[in-house]
Amino acid sequence: MPSTHAAASEVLVLGAGMVGVSTALALQQRGHAVTLVDRRPPGQETSYGNAGIIQREAVEPYAFPRDLRTLARIAAGRSNDANYHWGAIGALLPALFRYWRASAPVRYEVIARAHSRLIEHCLDEHAGWIESAGAWGLIHKDGWRQAYRSQRAFDEAAGAALVVAARHGLAATVQDAAALAAAEPALKPGLAGAVHWGDPWTVRDPGDLVARYADLFVQRGGASLRGDALSLQPAGSGWSVAGDDGVRVQGRHAVVALGPWAQGLTHALGYRMPLFVKRGYHRHYAGHGGLRLSMLDVERGVMLAPMARGLRLTTGAEFARQDAPPTPVQLDRAERSARELVQLGAPVEPAPWLGARPCTADMQPVLGPAPRHPGLWFNFGHAHQGFTLGPVTGRLVAELISGETPFIDPTPYLAHRFE
Ligand SMILES: Cc1cc2nc3c(=O)[nH]c(=O)nc-3n(C[C@H](O)[C@H](O)[C@H](O)COP(=O)(O)OP(=O)(O)OC[C@H]3O[C@@H](n4cnc5c(N)ncnc54)[C@H](O)[C@@H]3O)c2cc1C
Repeated sequence: MPSTHAAASEVLVLGAGMVGVSTALALQQRGHAVTLVDRRPPGQETSYGNAGIIQREAVEPYAFPRDLRTLARIAAGRSNDANYHWGAIGALLPALFRYWRASAPVRYEVIARAHSRLIEHCLDEHAGWIESAGAWGLIHKDGWRQAYRSQRAFDEAAGAALVVAARHGLAATVQDAAALAAAEPALKPGLAGAVHWGDPWTVRDPGDLVARYADLFVQRGGASLRGDALSLQPAGSGWSVAGDDGVRVQGRHAVVALGPWAQGLTHALGYRMPLFVKRGYHRHYAGHGGLRLSMLDVERGVMLAPMARGLRLTTGAEFARQDAPPTPVQLDRAERSARELVQLGAPVEPAPWLGARPCTADMQPVLGPAPRHPGLWFNFGHAHQGFTLGPVTGRLVAELISGETPFIDPTPYLAHRFE
């Protein structure tokens, strides 16, 4: 338990997704009086709609594809990993260009090293909050699978996975078609094999885990305020934000943890960072299709995740304006692909869920002090791994605010890199 810090103060945490709630808990643990601000109850946006994997294996962030074959497939609309709205591409181009450059092998290697330094703490940091929140009942510790249809893709991926696993001390088991069929007897034939990552944990209701963490925060005396983060203003030597009742709450510090909405606030404050979103869809189908573990059908770009509400199919990236109307073509294809693999029940919801991964051009979150606003702190941009990383970067930001020696060197993630 970290000791209560001498300079404990009032802190506003804007955004109650996995990142904001984890930050609030870590600040509270250090003796700060924390108000968690959201326009909705905790954990009902991106941190609700994801695939629910605490991805200990995700030591390498998602790079922009650089091989011509993949790019051609995406451009021709033949890859289900990506869909794009032509009308949005112009606005996205500067950030996407930087993303492409950051994905060049030499730069990417440096980025992946920084990413893995965050990822390696994810299980330990979650474990502490899961234990305190009494939420072990939501957690499954059996890992998940990346499955392949073609022998060639399977052989390539299996070789690469074993290299990553050896380098990072991760558990990866290569399962051929027979081994996969034995492990998942309900699967229909047609898969060449899978890589089973043994370390990650899966959560059958990701939004509920965030809600449990938020309950713990409130039980420990934390304040929860319904309000609009865009009402943030300087106030004295700190910041204030308005609740829905119009009453302003003040804090010496404010932390922006607004996930894919962070740019609305940071842009208004004058920051120009290469942020963009990769939209994603999900839908539940009755039953679990007999599937024991979550499984990514890699070549069809669909995750099949057994969840409390049914089998949740989640999709890859859609490059579009965050607020553009839904175009769930990837989900339609995902559903067809999933039916080839499992007995899929009827859809649970009348329409798919749509959310947005909060991405940065260099695949790293943005955290630490706002470069030009004393008392303002950032913690957003966790892209594909915010559910995994919330407790890790939450602790890091809490340590920085408290003046403690951070447990991870924050330099690669500071907003100053974009100034
Ligand atoms: C399909 C899909 C699958 C994914 N799978 C995984 C996975 O398996 N593992 C993983 O680690 N990650 C996964 N991710 C990524 C992960 O979900 C995100 O990185 C993470 O949820 C981001 O958390 P956050 O707290 O930053 O944002 P959010 O959870 O979106 O929280 C932001 C909060 O800010 C609030 N807010 C926004 N604007 C305002 C405002 N003006 N005023 C007040 N409040 C406001 C929102 O209501 C929200 O509660 C997936 C994402 C998608 C889309």
